Amino acid sequence: MSLLVQKFGGTSVGSVERIKAVATRIAESKAFGHDLVVVVSAMGHTTDELTGLAQTISNKPPQREMDMLLATGEQVSSALLAMALYERGIQAISMTGSQVGIVTESAHGRARILEVRTERIKKKLEEGQVVVVAGFQGTSFSSGGTAEITTLGRGGSDTSAVALATALNADACEIYTDVPGILTTDPRKVSDAQMMTTVSCEEMLELASLGAAVLHPRAVEIARNYGVSVVVRSSWSNEPGTTLTSKSKRPLGREGLELGRPVDGLELVEDQAVLGLSHIPDQPGIAAHLFEKLSNGGINVDLIIQATHEGKSNDITFTVANQNLPKAKEISESVIKELGGNLSTQSEMAKLSISGAGIMGRPGIAATLFDTISRAGINLRLIATSEVKVSCVIDAKLGAKALRAVSEAFELNDNQVLINPSIAFNGEPEVRGVAMDSDQAQVSVRRVPDKPGTAASLCSALAEAGISLDAIVQSERQHKDGSRDISFTLKKNDRQQAGNALGPLLAQWPGSSLEDGRPITRISAVGAGMPATAGTAGRMFRALANAGINIEMIATSEIRTSCVVAETDGIDALQAVHSHFQLGGKKQYEAKEF
Ligand code: ASP
Ligand code: MG
Repeated sequence: MSLLVQKFGGTSVGSVERIKAVATRIAESKAFGHDLVVVVSAMGHTTDELTGLAQTISNKPPQREMDMLLATGEQVSSALLAMALYERGIQAISMTGSQVGIVTESAHGRARILEVRTERIKKKLEEGQVVVVAGFQGTSFSSGGTAEITTLGRGGSDTSAVALATALNADACEIYTDVPGILTTDPRKVSDAQMMTTVSCEEMLELASLGAAVLHPRAVEIARNYGVSVVVRSSWSNEPGTTLTSKSKRPLGREGLELGRPVDGLELVEDQAVLGLSHIPDQPGIAAHLFEKLSNGGINVDLIIQATHEGKSNDITFTVANQNLPKAKEISESVIKELGGNLSTQSEMAKLSISGAGIMGRPGIAATLFDTISRAGINLRLIATSEVKVSCVIDAKLGAKALRAVSEAFELNDNQVLINPSIAFNGEPEVRGVAMDSDQAQVSVRRVPDKPGTAASLCSALAEAGISLDAIVQSERQHKDGSRDISFTLKKNDRQQAGNALGPLLAQWPGSSLEDGRPITRISAVGAGMPATAGTAGRMFRALANAGINIEMIATSEIRTSCVVAETDGIDALQAVHSHFQLGGKKQYEAKEF
């Protein structure tokens, strides 16, 4: 007999019929003898409807009142489900977040969970009751000790479920939803998308646009930190769904169940070298050719960055281990001989990275990293960002100094800091899934001064305006006056605000200007086996080259390789990469479900 936490999403409890069907499903699990805690979302689009209702009264309703209002949605579905269970002769009791002991911080509308006081729920379980919990909500105790209703942020009932599973030390947390699990890509765009049987929490976070639609990133982070076993499966079938795996299993600490800190890891990799090819032709197949040659030469490339370009040529910069520099240099020289261009190399570099699911959607984090490094007087040679990681390449001699400054800035302790971690191959695939993001725009800031602090002030200005950057690339090429270009991608919706935010900065940099790139789409391949597999990037670039698609920008992180392509090439690019890594299959998943 096990203790299971089962969560049913809004569609799964979207009507009375569905609530009854869910009750039948719960009854089946109960018949197996399991102890059950069931977490529910609000019925269908209730939360949206309640938000709309509030908007008809006020443009800016008080957050506290919004929480009072929105929390009612889950109270309705939990009570109805408990009634439906009663009808089947099952002992059940519904409870609000506060009754179930979910204690949060006081930030209304986006409260993080501090702890779950499990006494009451355990007592009910011992009595043999099914406890039906209203998801998405908790209770905070203000300084005076008064209890207030809080909500966890949209999609937060997943977070309630995984937090309960952690606190109760449940055997598993099952997320029942209207899709069969997590698919290798979006089935609306690629008809042979397949279900993943397993995916690691890290991969799931990097596949944000695929994964977050199914499971709230904060829930994934809790699962990752505490090693909770989570399964995502369909409410309407008995297929096994997708299992999320996690390496770490931290004990529940005193610092709060959802760690308050957005950054929870810092890493320094020494003995790196940077190679920069500039003024190479801008046409499909060039990146593929270069990285295939490198991989045939037995060289594992780490970061790859390709900036946007003025005119008809490209710059590509990448890092390798110092010991591979001579060979990588020889290969790059031969490519330049064929195609034209210039090569620069730098040895004795180091890569410093911060990681944490809290980086997602918090633009201030990358800005703090860059700012900390530039305050220490250190120049950023390269910058690479992904959903949950920000890396930069700096002079190795300054590595220890940077490490100290960054670990202080993010208040990390020694066991969160890793120096020269080894890369182990654990049988994970190099590419597990491919995500496509079409909500991005590409912008370049031309002619910015090449000195410490430039990227930092750019990122800070955007961060202050609440804008997250995705790929950010400093050009390899220098203008005659020594200035460089910095290109980045951001959400289309943020483009106009970015212009306003950067205005004062550009005014300080004579000759600088902001320039829009063509409309783009970003394709990201993600796989936990990527760091240990040579040639993944080359294969991705080959897939695009074979489809005749030009790559405008490349940005890689440890387990993710992203290519920015013209918007009109987006779907072809997604299909090409998905099939090149043989992720497709026979079974078709209904597109409307996703
Ligand atoms: N009902 C909330 C929302 O729609 C929470 C959830 O469904 O997870 O965001
Ligand atoms: Mg959801």
